[in-house]
Amino acid sequence: MPTHIQDCSTLQNGVQMPWLGFGVFQLEEGEEVSIIKTALSLGYRSIDTASLYHNEHSLGQAIRACGIPREQIFVTSKVWNSDQGFDSTLRAFEQSRERLGLEYLDMYLIHWPVPDKYEDTWKALEKLYKEGQVRSIGVSNFLIHHLERILEGCNIPPMVNQAEFHPYLLQPELLEFCTRQQIQREASVPLMKSRVLADPALLQIAQRHKKSVAQVILRWDLQHEVVTIPKSGHPERIKQNAQLFDFVLSSEEMTAIDALDRGERVGPHPDDPELYKS
Ligand code: NDP
Repeated sequence: MPTHIQDCSTLQNGVQMPWLGFGVFQLEEGEEVSIIKTALSLGYRSIDTASLYHNEHSLGQAIRACGIPREQIFVTSKVWNSDQGFDSTLRAFEQSRERLGLEYLDMYLIHWPVPDKYEDTWKALEKLYKEGQVRSIGVSNFLIHHLERILEGCNIPPMVNQAEFHPYLLQPELLEFCTRQQIQREASVPLMKSRVLADPALLQIAQRHKKSVAQVILRWDLQHEVVTIPKSGHPERIKQNAQLFDFVLSSEEMTAIDALDRGERVGPHPDDPELYKS
């Protein structure tokens, strides 16, 4: 169990990935650099972006300005759907790397399993990994059947699967599958974009521990051994979301939170063909 904000999960290739990261999707335009610098000054050492978020340039600026050595910051980006395929993924990676202004990335993910494309995309990620351009590679929004296909044909297995995970969407079979395959689970939208924060059962647990519901959920992630990357544009919440190491949820509380699962998503279902039309 992590006991400090900078504690790490050891991925299957030995790379250390912080259990707590900072998500930067939909940060207020113009405020990205200062917000990311705030998160880094509060102790966050992992930042999750994607070409889709249009803030890789700001992230690079924040890293250069923050005074923390580059090698102490874990930087993740993702290849967007329209860039998938072997050659186009290599090009997209280079563009992300240039926007970030970094020599290497710590992790590169396939953003969504685009049908008929994601296996070639994976081969491009393997190439980038073998060349040392990225320290670890993984996937995002993959279901078990997507992972099985990758695992059948790959030379290097995915090290992480970043997918929607919060009290209303547990996907226990996916969690178990990833654990068996040594694929680190990472929670995207861990706070369900704040839609889960008024849940009465969570409020009760939060009151018991004198914590916020957000803190209870993020602690629940960590106790499930799921890497978590909450986003906030407010310094006091960014600070609060990192204060997770001075309380422990009991096994009864963990079970009670698990029982809130309703299979409810905020994002699209990874097998929804509409997602891949544009
Ligand atoms: P989150 O589940 O992290 O929720 C963010 C929302 O919760 C914001 O509205 C924020 O408000 C609010 N919030 C944050 N902390 C608190 C708090 N302590 N108390 C009350 N409200 C709070 O949503 P995201 O979509 O941002 O997901 C997190 C990250 O996951 C993304 O930034 C991105 O990096 C990644 N992601 C990946 C996806 C994928 O397809 N791979 C999909 C979606 C997200 P405010 O900002 O006003 O504080």
